[in-house]
Amino acid sequence: MKLIMLGAPGSGKGTQAKKIVEYLKVPHISTGEIFRKNMRENTPLGIKVKDIISEGRLVPDDITIQIVHERLIEPDCKKGFVLDGFPRSLPQAVALDSLHKIDYVINLDVENEIVIARTTGRRTCKTCGTMFNIHEIGGEIVCAKCGGELYIRTDDTLEAVLERLEMYEEKTRPLVQYYAKQGKLVNINADNEPDKVYKAIIEAIKK
Ligand code: AMP
Repeated sequence: MKLIMLGAPGSGKGTQAKKIVEYLKVPHISTGEIFRKNMRENTPLGIKVKDIISEGRLVPDDITIQIVHERLIEPDCKKGFVLDGFPRSLPQAVALDSLHKIDYVINLDVENEIVIARTTGRRTCKTCGTMFNIHEIGGEIVCAKCGGELYIRTDDTLEAVLERLEMYEEKTRPLVQYYAKQGKLVNINADNEPDKVYKAIIEAIKK
């Protein structure tokens, strides 16, 4: 099965994608995570996108489309994949459509105030990339999964989050209509506990 996770930053795309891939046994492809890994490793791509990401802007379409294209032709993607954070613009969606037949687009619907509280309270592991929230872990500075150091992503500051929300409204929200027209959209209320959101997604894609 080929799925897309759509939604504003902080809507829970990453959290849900991780659970869904365990269920579907397909790879989880997060463009944000690919960029962050490149930034951690100081690769030419990481250096190129560092400032763009820190400021909450979108990486140019040609770069992002190329990266996703290269990842999706790997053998583990033959039986399907869950895309998290891609596409984020109309040109990206059109490029993806020309290469792959997507089954469902899961649109995680959540109010902006919740998105702001979630993202600005987020702590990310420097080593494994797992995300936590201060509402759950308090002042903890060590990753419960691998022991790595937790940090605040440069794009999780209030200023960057507001910019990301603006980018979402301008570039990404039009995709809701785009996929609704194709009959692929599954709307999910994401202002709920992660387990409930997950159950709603699984029920919808089983149909
Ligand atoms: P995420 O982890 O999905 O929130 O992505 C973090 C950041 O990476 C975004 O705010 C963008 O700057 C960049 N990014 C991730 N995916 C894309 C994409 N599909 N198109 C452009 N930029 C992206």
